[in-house]
Formats: sequence, structure tokens, C-alpha cells
Amino acid sequence: MTLTVRIKTLTPLWTGGLDGTMDRIHETGILGSLRWWYEAIVRGLGGSACAPTEPRCELTGQRLRLYEKAREEGKDWWQALDKAGICDACKVFGATGWKRRFRLEVKSDTQLTWQPRDSVLNIRPPERARGWYLLPGHVGTLTLKLEGEEKVVSMLACLFLWLEKYGSLGARPQLGYGAFRILNRDEVVEKAGGWKWGLLQKEAQNASPNSKGKTPDHPDLRRLLFFRYEFTPSKPGWWTQVPGVSRVGSRVQPLVTHWHTVPTTPALKNEWRFNQWQGNRREEVEIFGTLHPDRRRGRIGATWAYRENGVWFIHGWAWMPQKERLAGQLWKILADESVWAHVLGVQGNLTTVPSGQWKELTSEDVRKLLQGVCHD
Ligand SMILES: [Zn+2]
Repeated sequence: MTLTVRIKTLTPLWTGGLDGTMDRIHETGILGSLRWWYEAIVRGLGGSACAPTEPRCELTGQRLRLYEKAREEGKDWWQALDKAGICDACKVFGATGWKRRFRLEVKSDTQLTWQPRDSVLNIRPPERARGWYLLPGHVGTLTLKLEGEEKVVSMLACLFLWLEKYGSLGARPQLGYGAFRILNRDEVVEKAGGWKWGLLQKEAQNASPNSKGKTPDHPDLRRLLFFRYEFTPSKPGWWTQVPGVSRVGSRVQPLVTHWHTVPTTPALKNEWRFNQWQGNRREEVEIFGTLHPDRRRGRIGATWAYRENGVWFIHGWAWMPQKERLAGQLWKILADESVWAHVLGVQGNLTTVPSGQWKELTSEDVRKLLQGVCHD
């Protein structure tokens, strides 16, 4: 079965490149994000997915023999890989000795957000010495052609619908890249119709990710907080007041005019980290990441602000820390509408999942959340 997904970027897409800049759209950057989310979904449904920080699955030696034996006994490839102990993510995305179950081809009609491709946009809020350095991603439309077995392709259709609403595509979601809109929605929803996320639900291993010692700290939908801030500014120039953006206003103006987006992510992160967060350095680094001495990615992804039909949006997620004390503290900051209004200078409406207060989701909550997105 073939699935065609036509998308329009809402914020620049970043897929990496050989020299650290983005010469073109690289399929690997798109595949990486699909896999990251799929792994978080699999874990969120109570299943297991290997992570880059541990040995990945390999279909070799004894495992390969188990797989072949199961196949001889009439099991399908999915069941046979179960017998061989290959995780649900590797089943679809591939592992040593096992090919990825779908092909991806990308045709793009995009351009660099600004020129040249190695020029950085430095967003420096007033009290920061260096601030954030943004490279130009790509903006425009893309056509993704995915080909594989029906079950796999339906799942991918659901995954795209999920990423559109709650996630992003490509790399550097922490810096706000990769928000997108699906242009041929009806077609994608139709293809998604055959998929049930419940197929991945594992009752036996359904331990909470927070049960200490049992589950390593990997992204897991049960411990992700999702947020969306929606606002309708009365003045078109609202963004010129956003900390750090004003001093590069002449470079941001074309982004607003042509692409309806504003790099608000640094200002929000700056506020959350340096003005709102209270805690020791170790905890701060655990949540917000660091470049020194070793690079550690932050746990928060927030898109740039983007405009659709006259309304502005920012959406994103936070991968909550295992310590509930820290998770509660982070929730308080991210779910505080007044912090958003203060940074952006515009009153808006903040919605979160879960709502009301921070609470780890159950795998059944996760299944319902995922399934709702596939079929709406
Ligand atoms: Zn694996």
C-alpha cells in the first residue's frame, strides 16, 4: 500500500546535513523523528522499545534461529520477531539483520528560511550573554510517499496525524522546528482507518515508567505533558516586544510576512529556565539540558509561534522527569497561562494534556489519546 502525505511547514523544518547546515531535506532526519515518536508511543502503550543509549536489537545468531523457526511454524513476521525478542520499534524501523518495513521518498518544494544556509539568527534575551543561535531550516511544501504493507502504512498514517497535532517532524524540536499541517488530510485519515494502537498494548509489561529501578528513563507518552497556547493579538507587531526578538526585528519581519512564523522558543525557554525555575544546577540541567561539558538535550519542545487563519499558535511537549517533585514543579511553570502571556505580551488560551494537574497517564489513556487523533 502507498500513502502520500502532502504537508506544509508551519515552522521551519530541520533535517540536518553533512556540514551542520541544511543543504536540502534529508530523509534520515524525517525518519529519526518518526522513530523517536514511535518509540515513545510503544513505551506509552506498555511495550518495550530499545533506545539509542542502550544496545539496539539485532536479528543475528540465536535470535535469527528463533525467528526462522517461528516462521517455519507458520507465524507471521510480526509474531516471529516477538519470539526472537525484537522490540516493537525495531520491527517497523529496522535493526541489524532486519530491514525497515517501509520505503520513504520525499519530494520537496521548499526553500531556506533565510540565506545563506550557514548564517545564524541569534536570539538573545536582554539578560543573556549569548542566547540562542538558530540556523535556517526549510519552509514550503513537501510530498512524502510511504510504501509498505497495509498494517505498517496505516500505522504511519496515524503517526503523521499524531505528529501534526502534538509533535513535529525532523530534528531539533527543542528549538521549535518542524511544526506542519497535512494538506491531504481526508486521504491520510482514510488510510489511518485500519489501524488500532491497541495492537501494541502490552498488559504483562505494563509497569509504570515511574516504578523505580524497573524502567529506564526513556521518552514515554505516559510521561509527556502536551501544551498549546492560542492567541489572537490585537496588533500585528506584537512579536516585536518578545525578549530577544526585538533586536533582530528586521530579520524576523520577512519570516512573519512570508511564512507567518516567529521564533518565540528562545524567549519562552529563557523565562522558564532562568526566571521561573527554582532548583539546583544538576536539576536544572536535567530538565533544560546543557552543551557543557557534554551535550544533554532538554526535555521541552515548543514550536515557534505560527499563524493560521488569523490565529497564532504555539504547541509542544515536555518529557517529565522521573522524580515527581521535579515533575510537579515543571508542570506548575509550563501550565501557568500568565507566564505565556507575560513572555509573548499577548493574552491567550492555554490547554494541556493532562489537564488540571500533572498526572502520569495510564497506557489506556495513551491508547485513547492516540486513537482519537487517528479518527477525527
Ligand atoms: Zn529494538
